[in-house]
Amino acid sequence: MEPRMDLRISYFPGKFIQGNQAILELPRFIDLFGGKAFMLVTPSMEQMVKANGFDRYDYEIFKSACCWDAINGIIGRIKDRDYTVIVGIGGGKIVDTAKAVADKLDLHVILAPTVAASSAAFSACSVIYTPDNIEESVYYEKHSPDVLLLDNSLIIGASCRHFVAGMGDALAVYFEGRGCMHSGAENSLHGRQTFCALAMCDYCLDTLLRYGYDAKTAYENKIITPAVERIIELNLLCAGIAFEGAGLAAAHAIHNGLTIMPQVRDHYLHGEIVAFGVLCELHLTDSEPEEMDEIYCFCEDLGLPTTLAAIGLTDPSDADLEAIAQATFDDPYLHHENPNTTVQEIKMAICAADAMGRDRL
Ligand SMILES: [Zn+2]
Repeated sequence: MEPRMDLRISYFPGKFIQGNQAILELPRFIDLFGGKAFMLVTPSMEQMVKANGFDRYDYEIFKSACCWDAINGIIGRIKDRDYTVIVGIGGGKIVDTAKAVADKLDLHVILAPTVAASSAAFSACSVIYTPDNIEESVYYEKHSPDVLLLDNSLIIGASCRHFVAGMGDALAVYFEGRGCMHSGAENSLHGRQTFCALAMCDYCLDTLLRYGYDAKTAYENKIITPAVERIIELNLLCAGIAFEGAGLAAAHAIHNGLTIMPQVRDHYLHGEIVAFGVLCELHLTDSEPEEMDEIYCFCEDLGLPTTLAAIGLTDPSDADLEAIAQATFDDPYLHHENPNTTVQEIKMAICAADAMGRDRL
């Protein structure tokens, strides 16, 4: 079906709950959605599940990639068991798998993300990988998650690197939303941008610049300050509203180009690579020098990558750079920025972002 660009579209999760020990609300929401839960749990959370008595619900420890083999395997094991709700407790792969399983079985879904590394838990789509962990496709669910349950005290147990990577992913929404606005491109829901999503783009950038460094410092010391709570909400909720409703563009296309290289894909987090993609996007779109300086400073202060070497590409060959630029060009998000961008312009922007990053070290 052709997208209708006269319609502004945003999707939202049904319920959003955040706080310390928020996970204790889980049984209440399971009861609300029929009382019969099947849970996918990341290995590091099994102890928490048992300590809180959540092992009275059926659960499975999930270690796989979010791939069709894993999703169909779970569906095969649980489809005749009369479950009413799927619960995902873990990182991006678990929440994406839980959403896809729930969608295929027409069940409710409750998500308790345990890292703030991306807004995966917010969205009504799952990034599907091959069993070898290579991104394959995006699966769109019929509904947004029923409940998004953010327990600050669980999330702060994840590494600071994941928290900072979440800020790197969220940094992109302002620039990508701006790119889609200038070109009139569709948003991630194949519609026109909502004003709410555009407001969230502004809020995300402003809040990251104001509170990002304070939040990182507190998080590193495992202190849940209002700044930390604000950034957890931003990474998992606000950036989700922004990216779905305002659209993706060059930063994610460049991420998708860079991840053809195994040394990038296998060792760096989504948000780290996206943050470098933002710097490339600034060069590609001829950003103002003041803006460029502000965003480089932000990435440097937080320890987000500002050079190719910082994402594993030390001395890339010209052929590597050509291949990355071509893969970026082939990604539809790139053309949300400017339909006339060439492969050579992309390559120049990546090299310029790296050169400026190295010069500032
Ligand atoms: Zn992202």
